[in-house]
Amino acid sequence: MAQKMKDVLKYGRDFLNENGVDSREARLLLANTLQVEPAELIKITECTDGDFDRYVIDLRRRAAGEPFAYIAGRKEFMKLPFMVNKNVLIPREDTEILVLEAIKQGKTRILDLCTGSGCIAISLAKYLSNAEVDASDISSRALVVAKKNAVLNGVKVNFIQSDLFENIEKKYEMIVSNPPYIRKEELKYLQAEVKREPKRALDGGKSGLDFYEKIIAEANYYLKPHGTLLLEIGFDQAKEVTEILKECHYRKIKKVKDLSGNDRVIIAERG
Ligand code: GLN
Repeated sequence: MAQKMKDVLKYGRDFLNENGVDSREARLLLANTLQVEPAELIKITECTDGDFDRYVIDLRRRAAGEPFAYIAGRKEFMKLPFMVNKNVLIPREDTEILVLEAIKQGKTRILDLCTGSGCIAISLAKYLSNAEVDASDISSRALVVAKKNAVLNGVKVNFIQSDLFENIEKKYEMIVSNPPYIRKEELKYLQAEVKREPKRALDGGKSGLDFYEKIIAEANYYLKPHGTLLLEIGFDQAKEVTEILKECHYRKIKKVKDLSGNDRVIIAERG
């Protein structure tokens, strides 16, 4: 028996509401279940029992704390489509700031460390037409996703499985990275949704700075003269990361703010 769409939507809203999830997501989830754009829902009047059953499964996943992007299996970043699953961090809007700054540098030989879904590397390959982009991650499962995303976006990126610089052999004009930067003790306070993301992509060690210390020290060797390092940072890490850059003799250190006014990206030139 078919069900009226307005009843299905009401069911979804109530269900999410009772489970402490913003009820506006009911519409987005239903559009995803039916594989239509949210704006097209208005044209549909009835929903089959099979569709309703699938919707209920998706609602339960969402109510249990799974992020919408994992249920949908996709997330837009830099106006490009990316597939995502539990093996990769979901691309964040704030990270677009890093990509926009990287594009402004106009460098063509680029390495993206800790690439995850590949969103940074692939966006750079897409928007910088002469760029030769290498991208690495320690996780082979993440690289499976990143490689699919390169195909999905029709770009060539050379993916390397590597623990930071371990398997990196070339030198670059620009190295970019959004490494894990959450302080270990703060991991337990993250939102339920963020807790579903790979811990390894978030855990920056006791101080949250473990990856910056290693990347900044070693990038000196992997950057060509006048090469640029671009790092995404936590909202309260600008001072500490600047100190590490200075200790390692980087120059022209510049901070860029995110949409909420927090320092989010640090750019520096190799010393
Ligand atoms: N921006 C992410 C968050 O706030 C953290 C990403 C990272 O550790 N690189 O959850």
